[in-house]
This record gives sequence, C-alpha cells and structure tokens, in this order.
Amino acid sequence: MLKIRTVFVFLIAAVLLFSACDRTKKTPKDNPQTTVTLPAFDNDSAYAFVKAQTDFGPRVLGTEAHENCGNWLLGKLREYCDTAYNQTFTARTYDGKTWPCANFIGSFGPEKTKRIVLAAHWDSRPFADHDPLPANRETPIDGANDGASGVGVLLEVARQLHENHPNVGVDIVFFDAEDYGPRESESVPGDWWGLGAQYWAKNPHIQGYTANYGILLDMVGTPNAQFMQEQFSLRDAGDVVRKVWATAYELGHGQYFQNKPGGVITDDHYYVNKYAPFKMIDIIHYDAASGTGFDPVWHTVNDNIQHVDRNTLGVVGTTLLQVLKNE
Ligand SMILES: [Zn+2]
Repeated sequence: MLKIRTVFVFLIAAVLLFSACDRTKKTPKDNPQTTVTLPAFDNDSAYAFVKAQTDFGPRVLGTEAHENCGNWLLGKLREYCDTAYNQTFTARTYDGKTWPCANFIGSFGPEKTKRIVLAAHWDSRPFADHDPLPANRETPIDGANDGASGVGVLLEVARQLHENHPNVGVDIVFFDAEDYGPRESESVPGDWWGLGAQYWAKNPHIQGYTANYGILLDMVGTPNAQFMQEQFSLRDAGDVVRKVWATAYELGHGQYFQNKPGGVITDDHYYVNKYAPFKMIDIIHYDAASGTGFDPVWHTVNDNIQHVDRNTLGVVGTTLLQVLKNE
C-alpha cells in the first residue's frame, strides 16, 4: 500500500488530548488484567492458513498461483460460512494492463440486519520495489505479512464462528488487487491501489448492501506488532477505533494495541470509506522509527512466512472475536 505523508495536525492534537485524559482514568497503563478469558482462537491454525497461501507462491495478478490460491480461499469460505460469494471483475492497473480478479465474500447470518465486515487483501505485490538489494526489486513477493496474515486470521475467525455462531451478522471479505500500485520510483496519477476494494465498495455483492461498520486487517503478523490508531480510521470511524482498542486492552493486549495515533495510510479501508455507505477502520502495524512506517520486510523479498509471528495473529484474532461477541 501507499503511505501518504500528509499529517492531520489537528487530529493528532485531539488524539493526544484524548490519550492524556484516558491515562488519568486507567492505571496501570498496559496489560491491566491477566485473569480475563480469551475467546477460543488457535494461533497455530491461523499460522497454517497464512503458510497455505504463501505455499501457492506469490499471488500476483495473472499467475497460476493467484488463481489456485483464489480457488482454495473460496473453498474455505464455502466450508466455514453460511453463504459465500465469488465476485469476479476485471482490473485495469496503472501500467495499462487488464487482469481477471475476484473478491471473495463469506457471510454468517445473511438474514441479519446488524452486520460487521471483516476484511483483508489476498493478492501479493508483483515486485519487491522496496528491497534493499536492487537485484531483487523486480521479484514478486510472498506477501506473508502484507496480505496473507490478515486473510489467515480471518480464516481462523471463520473456522471459530462456524463452531459458535455470532449473534450479529458477519461478512468476511477478501479483496483482490490491493497491491499492484506503481513502484516507489514511479509516479502515475490516479487511484491505483485497493482496486478490489474500490470495485466492491461501488458494486457490493448484494444490491443495496450496507453494514454497521468494518474492520480491515493488514500486516498483522509482525512480531511484537504495534497497532497504532491509523488516521483515516480515526477521522472516519473514531468510535469504532476506540471500541476495538478498548476491547484489546480488556483482553490484556494493550502492549500491541496502543492508544496513539499512527500513520495516514491509503489502504483498502480508505476506498470503502470513500465509496460505500458505511465506515471501515484499519488494524495495521505502524512503526514510525522504521523509515517506511511499516515492518522492515515490507515490499521486500523477505516478506515471507519466517517473519510472521503466530502470537501477533492470535492477539488480533481474539480481539476480533471479542468485538463480535460484545455486539
Ligand atoms: Zn503492500
């Protein structure tokens, strides 16, 4: 994804104020409870779902790996969810090429009117344009963290919801064609990221579809991840951000979900918020000190399964399941 470098100064001030007030109410600052019961979520199973995707090879548009992984994902959604949808479309990328693409949607309780969307992107980037070695920069990436981690968490969430149905309706959406934006070195005007999310937000799988809110996952496999509060999420759905972060805190995940503003990130949620009739937040690792703001392996050939941490997957998965339970 593309990081925008504009800073919402007023928003940061507001958030700092909020954090400052919050701190006086809650002591100690991190991990307040150890006795809380975590929702059932198998970290190893989530990890296996991440690895299963990377085992297909890079899921780059137009490749056999992309097609095979897509078929597998749709099969898993059909296995765990009440209903699954295969939304095919053609994406035109910044280089003028067109590709067969698909968003996959798995629904629980499709008849329910109160609905939560959980989303992640399943394609992987066609070139490692951020790799420190110039020789690697045209190599497609596994996208174990950038893409597969979020999908892996959501497949395990789906497996758990299959066992214990949620009270609220849930739609799990796997977006295609998120990560085929221009290289670092290129500048091509236009909205070339999040093509699957743009398509779905403008052409939902059910006519007139809406939800109460959505939660996007991206790069949720970084060891000791820091999930700062992404700023488009704060701007568009601050109440949802605070609810999710408070839930994580209650579960003892305060060291991961930090009550601080993060980056301003053009991810799939940005396009959902722009075109769909409801709002979506983004849970994404953010590290201001890393240079890019992202995981050090971001858009490099090292974004592979060795750099995915199963505990981080579990922190995110249990938080999502608890959020659903509280609805
Ligand atoms: Zn990416």
